[in-house]
Amino acid sequence: MLDLSKHKWRQIDKSIEELETDEIRIVRPIDDEYIPIDCPVCQHLFAEIADIEAYKRHKMCKTCELDNWHKLYSNKEK
Ligand SMILES: [Zn+2]
Repeated sequence: MLDLSKHKWRQIDKSIEELETDEIRIVRPIDDEYIPIDCPVCQHLFAEIADIEAYKRHKMCKTCELDNWHKLYSNKEK
């Protein structure tokens, strides 16, 4: 398993930092709110700011949000 503690997080802006290893890149918000580094639905690591934004909306990554778009938004119309 990947040992993230060996790597250093680099701050991108006030609210987001990233970590880059040989294999992967992860972004995470610097936030009071707890946000995991991977998607609870598909277990893929968040690699883009868009993934984190999607997580804040629906507790899932951008890809899962797109996959579930119809479900997420058809519910609200009813
Ligand atoms: Zn996902």
